Amino acid sequence: MAAQPARRTVSLVVVGRTVITENAQHRQLTPGAVAIDGGAIVDVDTPEAIAARYRATDTIDARTEIVLPGLVNTHTHAPMVMYRGLADDLALMDWLNKYIFPAEARTVSPEMVRIGTRLAALEMIESGTTTFTDMYYFEEEIAKAARDAGLRGVLGETIIQFPVADAKTPAEGLARAEAFIKAFKDDRLITPAVAPHAMYTNDRATLVACAELGRKYGVPVLIHLAETEDELKGAREKFNMTPTAYLESIGFWGPRTVAAHGVWVDADDIAILKRRGIGVSHNPESNMKLASGTAPVAAYLASGVALGLGTDGAASNNDLDMFEAMRQASFLAKHATHDPTAVPAQTALDLATIGGARALGMDAAIGSLEAGKRADLITVSVGAARQTPMYDPVSHLVYVTRGDDVRTTIVDGRVLMRGRQLKTLDAASVIADANRLAAQVRAAVK
Ligand SMILES: [Zn+2]
Repeated sequence: MAAQPARRTVSLVVVGRTVITENAQHRQLTPGAVAIDGGAIVDVDTPEAIAARYRATDTIDARTEIVLPGLVNTHTHAPMVMYRGLADDLALMDWLNKYIFPAEARTVSPEMVRIGTRLAALEMIESGTTTFTDMYYFEEEIAKAARDAGLRGVLGETIIQFPVADAKTPAEGLARAEAFIKAFKDDRLITPAVAPHAMYTNDRATLVACAELGRKYGVPVLIHLAETEDELKGAREKFNMTPTAYLESIGFWGPRTVAAHGVWVDADDIAILKRRGIGVSHNPESNMKLASGTAPVAAYLASGVALGLGTDGAASNNDLDMFEAMRQASFLAKHATHDPTAVPAQTALDLATIGGARALGMDAAIGSLEAGKRADLITVSVGAARQTPMYDPVSHLVYVTRGDDVRTTIVDGRVLMRGRQLKTLDAASVIADANRLAAQVRAAVK
């Protein structure tokens, strides 16, 4: 008998019915296993091969479940879960100007942001999101709440021309953003960012200052872009340019910039976004609910623009479920182009995982299950009536799976939820706090 080679001890092995790696070859293993040590993935292989090479301190048996990379939400406003269902069935400008901006003026505070982010974190962990990209106020409170919950975040302090809860002027907002960047620059889970709200809510000097701040610290810049036809019309009237071309003309576009929505763009705009290496966040549910329009997803994909998926804030969705975002991205593209081959299931899954990581400039670290990457992964049950039978796991993930089907969520090797048991948040107290705060929100907008 040959001598057994010494097995390396690792902190965790996850064994799944199928492991969907989302690597460049779209490798799937049925069954499969992922070996994790500390915060990193060390190996992905068959359960037998992993068992032969590693001795695991802890093992998660997901032999009836699918194991896949954690989902990457490339655009949201976490604390806006507090405005979920507060005002529906309105166009973006009415919704913003009559409800959201006034509600924010009266209710945004560090406490509101903290309670809202904890609620959003609970929802994200429960529905398989492991990285979220955020634009809001008091972003340091979001960073602390996300870090405590164990989530990975690309978090942008919002800069806007008019007075808001955490800054009376854009200059004050920029100073807050710089302090926030300095405080979180070396954090393991948090990537601080600067988030000019949009080209129509900031003047040229503010937009340029935001871009310069991002470049100075090498951090992401997050912006809403060409979300509505009104934004396009306004830019044409004011500058005789599209929003994308205007931002190009002022030297705004730089490295690690993520543009949310990108609905009202033409071929020249897409060429600019591609040339500048801009990540684009597609938010099909928000775009449909606010009737903002349909982003040209096929054109983005054909041009090679780094495209990810986002939920947008819960006030315009009204949830943070990335499985639903995948499904709606696929359906909307098919519906809009009259082409059922537009955004197939595999493409939708790519957008929610490695595509989102690429849009954020983080694909070397997250977005797929490969040795050397951070251990951000989830397991999903596939035993419900709705999921039976299963011929193609990718089809199932996109077309019948819901966030509620997520069983286990792991970020940076830390188990945040195991078999639906939350490890970092007390769900009852998070929900009670949110309900208590909701009474104040309701009173404020009466
Ligand atoms: Zn948004």
